[in-house]
Amino acid sequence: MLNYLKALNIDLPYVEARDATIDELLIFHTKDYIEALMKSDATMKVNAYIREKYNTGTIENPISPGMWRGSLLATGSSIQAVEIFNSYYKSQKQLVIFNPAGGMHHAKSSKANGFCFLNDPVITIKHLQKHGFRKIMYIDLDAHHPDGVQEAFYEDDSVYTISLHQSPEYAFPFSMGYETELGIDEGLGFNMNIPLPKAINDSEFSYALEKAIDFASSRFNPDAFVIQMGVDGLKEDYLSKFELSNNAYIKAIDIIYRYTKKFILLGGGGYNPISLARAWGLVWIYLNDINLKDVKITKEAEELLRSLDYEDFEDLMEDNIYTSILDTPRDGDIRIKEKLEKIISLHKLYMMV
Ligand SMILES: [Zn+2]
Repeated sequence: MLNYLKALNIDLPYVEARDATIDELLIFHTKDYIEALMKSDATMKVNAYIREKYNTGTIENPISPGMWRGSLLATGSSIQAVEIFNSYYKSQKQLVIFNPAGGMHHAKSSKANGFCFLNDPVITIKHLQKHGFRKIMYIDLDAHHPDGVQEAFYEDDSVYTISLHQSPEYAFPFSMGYETELGIDEGLGFNMNIPLPKAINDSEFSYALEKAIDFASSRFNPDAFVIQMGVDGLKEDYLSKFELSNNAYIKAIDIIYRYTKKFILLGGGGYNPISLARAWGLVWIYLNDINLKDVKITKEAEELLRSLDYEDFEDLMEDNIYTSILDTPRDGDIRIKEKLEKIISLHKLYMMV
């Protein structure tokens, strides 16, 4: 993404990532799990007991040379985002800190899950709370349900979780993400799942997000927002069944801006590197108030995308993918109105006023 922006001659400020420290991880993860990850990193293998206990060394969560360092950097960057957010919160009217490497929302406190070893969204929220931002609204736009985040705050009324995702009836994590999962005990009514059918278009995605935040913010007044913006809901992404264009993510920022201009933005899923570089590049440009009409695709940028060594999913890609940063909008009928109404009514029953 950074190389793509450079090829577009767009030079935006960024901070070099740092590793998370072990102490910073212990705010959520267990010591034995971290030690097991470090050991696997040193030996590049796991035994049957470790594989079973921590779900590592599997096809889903393989041990690889970049696994530990990459996870530490991704999580360290999210903690840096919290530190910057906290330092500038009072002095800035608009403050969005974007960590595209973050958003690893599936990891559990002592288990790897869904390509995720460390759950930086949970760690981000907990570090924000440590800095005094007590009530957090977490909004997850990834095509997959954030089971690790839901589990971490399921009994907690200080974090309101909203997630738009492919229904577990047909998508990972399969066992969680239904609308009837509302939270338990203190957390009852603070977990809003919006499982969606296949082939969701831009109009439907925006509609669901608007309805969800509108309801949640009438009942919960957060001190800070954390947004996970996995872009695997793009039509060109072979891991999801949604059919979004990258306009949907710009629209999502516009919707969130109605409620706050200060938030931490994390990345997440995205398995087509061409559409991923364009979508997150686009989002970053937009967050910097650069007019998208002024973005001219250079020859270098086009060549960079064409040079990406990637399996051929040409049938999913539109012709302008190399020559424009914005997709053609994929708007359409809103088929989910009744579904949203049902979900909101369910929450009205349980939410404390
Ligand atoms: Zn995903």
